Amino acid sequence: MFDTEKQNYLSRSGFSSISLKAMLFDMDGVLFDSMPNHATSWIGATAAYGLSMTREEAYMNEGRTGASTINEIALRTWGREASEQEIKQIYSKKTEIFNQCPVAMPMEGAWEILQKAKAAGIRIVLATGSGQKTLLERLNRHFPGIFTPENMVTAYDVKFGKPNPEPYLIALRKAGVSANEAVVVENAPLGVRAGVAANVFTLAVNTGPLADAVLLAEGADALLPSMTSLDESFYDFVESFR
Ligand code: MG
Repeated sequence: MFDTEKQNYLSRSGFSSISLKAMLFDMDGVLFDSMPNHATSWIGATAAYGLSMTREEAYMNEGRTGASTINEIALRTWGREASEQEIKQIYSKKTEIFNQCPVAMPMEGAWEILQKAKAAGIRIVLATGSGQKTLLERLNRHFPGIFTPENMVTAYDVKFGKPNPEPYLIALRKAGVSANEAVVVENAPLGVRAGVAANVFTLAVNTGPLADAVLLAEGADALLPSMTSLDESFYDFVESFR
């Protein structure tokens, strides 16, 4: 499995081998099926302030900070960046709508993958741009015994965030491994870009509505259609990186 992809990774990364010791997981759209809620709340919040954002744009911008997302849409619609006040208002509207959405459930296959990785002695690190205060509590409720602050990189730990490689570079440090000893699991174009820029083998799981080509164009080293498919092929996957 992934023989060609692995060879391509080695040539692009400059490493002579890959040896899987850690898996670095994104959260939204990978561990939780939360992207539909984010898209819905972005569309609602921007519409409330006379901006228009498509569902596709919401997925394309996943991982960007709120301010940067708002500015991009403002530039396109108003021909200028949003003011600090506008950013604050739109983002708080986004949060308000998000909090009214039904609670996102774990992504199908995620819990199985985490358990298998743990049992195989693979270190697990979360790398998310999210900064929700109840994050750890939610993770522990759905994925008990996997996450502690020591193996999490959140909005509070980073200066730049994705698509900057920073979150994954910190995740590597937390895992205590080098870039060729890890695999990034990402669903978003900008997250894939961050993983690739961190020089880590980046597996895209296309759990959303975007075309595979969008994730591959960001440099994804391999692509699977879902977390379920990663779960089903988990041991083959691990074997090919040992
Ligand atoms: Mg994501």
